[in-house]
Amino acid sequence: MVRGVRMGMGRRRFLAAGAVAVVAFDPIGMRWSAHAAPGDLRVPDLDGELVTDPAALAEAAEDYGQIAHRTPRAVLLPGSVRDIAVLVGFAHRHRIAVAVRGQGHSTFGQAQTAGVVIDSRPLSAITVSGRTAVVEAGATWGALIDAALPHGLTPPVMTDYVGLSVGGTLSVGGIGGASQHHGLQVDTVRQLEVVTGTGELVRCRRGDRLFAAVLAGLGQYGLITRAWLDLVPAPASARVYKVTYTRLSDLTAAQRTLIRDGRFSYVEGQLAPVDGGWAHILEAVAYYDTPPDDTAMLAGLPTGQVEIADLPLRAWLNRVTDLVDAIRPLKLPNPWINLFLPDRATDRFVASVLADLTPTEVGGGPILLYPFPRKRVSAPMLRVPNSDVVFLLSILRSVPQDDALVRTLLADNRAMYEKSLAIGATQYPIGSIPAEPGDWARHYGARYPQAVLDKATYDPRRILTPGQGIFR
Ligand SMILES: Cc1cc2nc3c(=O)[nH]c(=O)nc-3n(C[C@H](O)[C@H](O)[C@H](O)COP(=O)(O)OP(=O)(O)OC[C@H]3O[C@@H](n4cnc5c(N)ncnc54)[C@H](O)[C@@H]3O)c2cc1C
Repeated sequence: MVRGVRMGMGRRRFLAAGAVAVVAFDPIGMRWSAHAAPGDLRVPDLDGELVTDPAALAEAAEDYGQIAHRTPRAVLLPGSVRDIAVLVGFAHRHRIAVAVRGQGHSTFGQAQTAGVVIDSRPLSAITVSGRTAVVEAGATWGALIDAALPHGLTPPVMTDYVGLSVGGTLSVGGIGGASQHHGLQVDTVRQLEVVTGTGELVRCRRGDRLFAAVLAGLGQYGLITRAWLDLVPAPASARVYKVTYTRLSDLTAAQRTLIRDGRFSYVEGQLAPVDGGWAHILEAVAYYDTPPDDTAMLAGLPTGQVEIADLPLRAWLNRVTDLVDAIRPLKLPNPWINLFLPDRATDRFVASVLADLTPTEVGGGPILLYPFPRKRVSAPMLRVPNSDVVFLLSILRSVPQDDALVRTLLADNRAMYEKSLAIGATQYPIGSIPAEPGDWARHYGARYPQAVLDKATYDPRRILTPGQGIFR
């Protein structure tokens, strides 16, 4: 039985007033235009629009990081999944670079290209059927929650900020406090519909080579157009426990205990500057229909300063939405670094990072630190350290518009990344770490030959998602 709800934005809503649709391409000058000149190629018929108006190009030339800026020659506002296949097929034939931009929350130009940007936002339909949601890639996780909750369902893993696109997080991983139980968002996908770098529209599922390549594949092997996602029963409320410790070792000991016994639905943690030192804050959440016993929930944890609050589930999942949406228009640089650390080296590494870090180098952004068990990760392209327990360390710097400071922080990110490699860490590639030759081969390790083969098979002209800088 289909228990369906279909939500989606008007396909044409995104066409800016006064924007003129492109009809021709000059293959010599690599230019798109609204009028065909002799020698130009006709752009294939599209259900949506290909545009070159300055507003659309300017939006596609920036992202949340406000550090990298590359202006595309055109932006596709797709009217259908077919449009993406048609455009990529055309781009393949004429060697034009293409990248999808979801919500543009990358921090270092990962969704940018000098070729054509596909704005996935018009493709945002959601259908809920049984315990599965079929979601077009441009839908946000927040929209999916809104579609699933009336059915008493929710996605098993949510990112902290839910204004990210489904295609965007499935291309990188999608981690959150529930990853201790369910893995990353890529581990909750049943099936994908993908446009490969030759313009072929393909469905794939677990066990298929393309499925393994595309999930957390950083847009290199195919563009996700639709995903079939697991849903789980939604609890009514969230009880949020914050326990502040003066010592880092108390925080990580508490987190290790909690992910071992799994008593909480969600486990994260933050490091916040206080009076010349750091507060180490456990954030653990119990989802409930019947309120949990606080004494039992906190039993056996190191003693710290406890705060407890209750929120309806939707309010909890939305907890940072207003803040992020208010900060973004300020266009502050966000030179983020996100590392996956092996358990055995986490405390020492984090302590050494904190010893060198000043509040100025973090700005207003938070620092996250939380663990998940490696066995929950099934996507082979998501590279995590060889350790039963892996910690995410995210330094989400948000600093004033000061080019010299940003340059310094990018160099700091590079130095910290190199230091992390020595302890067997990997990067979660959503941040701003300047790349050097050999980085990606080292990042993928034993998976690298397969990645090279997959690129040659699915995107032989290397047109997809150049902003990741993987296959130059
Ligand atoms: C405020 C904020 C909070 C965040 N919180 C979390 C968090 O809690 N957990 C977490 O894991 N991450 C988090 N992130 C990082 C986020 O998951 C990634 O940056 C994600 O890629 C952003 O999604 P987007 O829709 O904005 O993608 P974009 O920035 O638009 O794209 C990201 C990359 O994916 C590619 N891409 C996008 N859509 C597709 C598609 N359909 N097919 C193929 N490739 C595609 C792009 O080309 C680009 O390379 C956060 C980011 C921000 C800014």
